[in-house]
Order: sequence, then C-alpha cells, then structure tokens
Amino acid sequence: MLGKASTSQPGISAVTVPRSEHGISRDDISENALKVLYRLNKAGYQAYLVGGCVRDLMLGMKPKDFDVVTNATPEQIKEQFYNCRLIGRRFRLAHIVFGREVIEVATFRGHHPGEEEESSASHARRNEHGHLTRDNVFGSIEEDAERRDFTFNAMYYSVVDFAVIDFANGRQAIEKREVDLIGDPQERYREDPVRMLRAIRFAAKLNMTISPRTASPIKEMAGLLTNIPPARLFEETLKLFISGNGVETFKLLQAHGLIEPLFPQLSGFLKADSSREMQFIYRVLENTDARVNNEQRVTPAFLYAALLWYPLEEYAQKMMSESGLSAHDAYNIAMSEVVRKQTQRIMIPKRFSTVIRDIWMLQQRLPRRFGRRAFQILAHPKFRAGYDFLLLRGEIEGGDLLELADWWTQFQDAHPAQQKKMLTTLRNKEGGAPHKPRRKRKPRNNDNA
Ligand code: ATP
Ligand code: MG
Repeated sequence: MLGKASTSQPGISAVTVPRSEHGISRDDISENALKVLYRLNKAGYQAYLVGGCVRDLMLGMKPKDFDVVTNATPEQIKEQFYNCRLIGRRFRLAHIVFGREVIEVATFRGHHPGEEEESSASHARRNEHGHLTRDNVFGSIEEDAERRDFTFNAMYYSVVDFAVIDFANGRQAIEKREVDLIGDPQERYREDPVRMLRAIRFAAKLNMTISPRTASPIKEMAGLLTNIPPARLFEETLKLFISGNGVETFKLLQAHGLIEPLFPQLSGFLKADSSREMQFIYRVLENTDARVNNEQRVTPAFLYAALLWYPLEEYAQKMMSESGLSAHDAYNIAMSEVVRKQTQRIMIPKRFSTVIRDIWMLQQRLPRRFGRRAFQILAHPKFRAGYDFLLLRGEIEGGDLLELADWWTQFQDAHPAQQKKMLTTLRNKEGGAPHKPRRKRKPRNNDNA
C-alpha cells in the first residue's frame, strides 16, 4: 500500500504552515463549519477543515462547501450535535444540518488491510477488478492524508492554532498550479479509476496543469472506468460538465482518451475541432458554461441530448435506409437504443431520460408547424428546451435550420394576429402542406359480420 511503497513519490510528511503564511481568514469560512470545529474541539476531539475548502481558500477562491474530519467516530460525532444524521454505506459519515447548509463530518480514514489480511478482515473488500468496495477502517490523520487523492487536497486547517498542516506539499502544488497525485499514480488509478476524471476536473476548474507523472498513465488506464458503477459515473459526469468549465473539461477528457469509456457512441464523431459534430458539442458546452456562470438553471438532459444527437441521427438514418422504416418509427427505435446503450456506462435517471427524448422528439416536430400543430408544439411542456436545442443546431448548421429557428423565435413572441399571419404566409410559401383531400371511406361491408 501507499505508505510502505513509494519513496520517490511525494510521500507523507507533515509541514505546519502558520496563520501568518497561509492567508486563510476565519471571515472566509462558513460560520456553521466553525461551530462544528469548536464544538468537537471542546468535547476533546481533534477536528480540521480539509480537502477542497482549504485548497480553494488558499487559492483565494470561494469554497463550494466545507468538509470537516475528526478523530471522533460517527457515533461520537452524533452525541455532540442534535442536528446530526449519519449517512453512507461505503464509509459512514455525519451530516450536521444547519437549515440549507450541511457540514459533512468524516472520521479519519485508515489504511486497508493488506491482501493477505483481507480474507479474514471484514473491513476493506475489493471487487474482481481490484477496486475498493467497502472501507470502514478508521485511522490517524497521517493515514487519512495518505488516502486522499491530490497533494493540494491533503491540507488540514485547525481552529486550535489556525495553522494548516500540509501533508503532501500541497502548498507547492498550488504555487506551481499543478494537479499532482499522492503516491504512485498507476496504483492510485487502479484503486479508484474515478481519480482520472477528478484530475481532469481539477485541472479545468482550477486552471492548472496535470503533472506529467499524474497525466501519463491515464490514456492506457482509461478503460478501467468501464468497471465503475454507472450511478457513480452519473454523479461524476455532472460535476465534470455542470461546473462552468465544460468546454475546457471536454477538451482535456478527449486529449486523455477519457471520452471513449464514458460515451462510447460518441467516439466515432470525435473528429477535428472544425467538424460540424464537434462545433455543435462545443457550442452546447459554451452555452451551458455561460448559464452556470450566470446562475441560470441547467438540466443535464439538455447536455446528454446534445452529446448523443449525432449518434441518434446516424442510428435513425441507418434504420430508415436498411429497414425501410418511416422517420417516425426509426427515430423512436433509435432514441430508445441510444439511451439504452449510454446507460450501460452512465446511469441516466428516468426524470432526465424522458426530457432527453422530449428534446429529440421536438426536433422532429418543430419543422412541421402548420396550423394547429404550431400551437400544440408551443404548448409542449419542454418546448423551451426543444427550441433552445434547435437554435444551437441552427447556429452550427445554418441554412434551413437557421431559418426554422428564426421562425420559432418570432412566432413564440408574436401577437395572435401576427401568428395567424405567419402561418398563412408559411402555407402559401410552402404550398399549403397537410391539406390533403380527405379520402372517402369505403362503405363498410357488413355482410360477413
Ligand atoms: P470540490 O470543491 O469540487 O467539491 P473537493 O476536493 O472538495 O472539490 P470532493 O469530491 O468534495 O472534492 O471530495 C472531498 C475530498 O475528499 C477531496 O478533497 C479529497 O481529499 C477526498 N477525495 C474525494 N474523492 C476521492 C477519491 N476518489 N480518492 C481519494 N480522495 C478523494
Ligand atoms: Mg467538496
């Protein structure tokens, strides 16, 4: 395991950074997190802020949330707080709930028993791929630091002396703006392949480079991600793309061969940046980033609909040409198939997959906007998402699609009289689509009833 092995890798040796040197002020720390730290200290336990919040504070960024670690066990933590819930199966954690803010408190994590002890010890288990599946071992602060992923994530802030204990030279990584794994990268990725995605996420989010030793094994180990449960990958993918740095993240994922294991159906479309397919994906990611950075709502459904749009079109076209299906039937089958295949890798909760289908289905309906149909489309609960999707397609493809998108831009805001006029103009221009003469019904032959 980590501690025993590597000498050439950044190992664990604590350096205490005093208050005067790290620049973290209590004013930047959530009051509730401070309450938790003081309370645990008062009860005689060690307690620290750790991980992302210490890193972000050192970078002068606003932490997303504040995580605490302590030597108190979950049950001991619970004794100290009336507003405490114990959660987690893989590793028991305490959530201290303050209205909308939740402070997560974890007990120091220890090492896993070595392979030889594993069969008798019940704490840590590996599945058939060698991944850790359960790890309930409590440990010391040093062990806890060693088990963390990147050097800048193993810094601990205490309110006893307001110092930061830096176990893996995280401060240097921050100065060099480098994402660097603790320990041997291959071993750390084998233990948990999701760390490859985390390396990319932090590089994009913190605008850092990935150290060469941390980056170099990723391409050949990327395939290990296919063993990660799809539900966990759903969570991780959300963090990757709904973070405000989606464009940069996508580029890094692609450069490190990580799109293929996450979105296998997309891999055939990963062409030059100038290709229509890539332009569309980047346009959608840019749009998502802008929305996230403006604190507007984004739905993962929109993103998945976009990432899988060209695979869907290809599949549907193939069905039409090979099986002679109508566009309607071909798209219906293709939608189910493309979503089904994607969920083998990344779980997509039903509440999103239905929206993905709505967005796709609206792409078929938006061009057929004669008469009453135009109003039915406008009244569709997902009209807005479908229209936004069409708009982005129009921006990339131009031509008829852009014209169609512009038509809908005008139509949705027009007065009823104007709308009527738009529909009449359309009918005259396009030769009055579906006013097919009604076929007379054959009189029923009731003789053999
Ligand atoms: P963010 O601000 O984006 O949430 P974070 O560093 O807080 O970044 P979390 O996913 O919240 O990321 O994890 C909290 C901490 O737990 C990390 O800083 C890291 O020390 C540790 N950690 C999380 N996931 C792993 C992992 N897969 N392997 C090792 N350590 C991990
Ligand atoms: Mg966090």
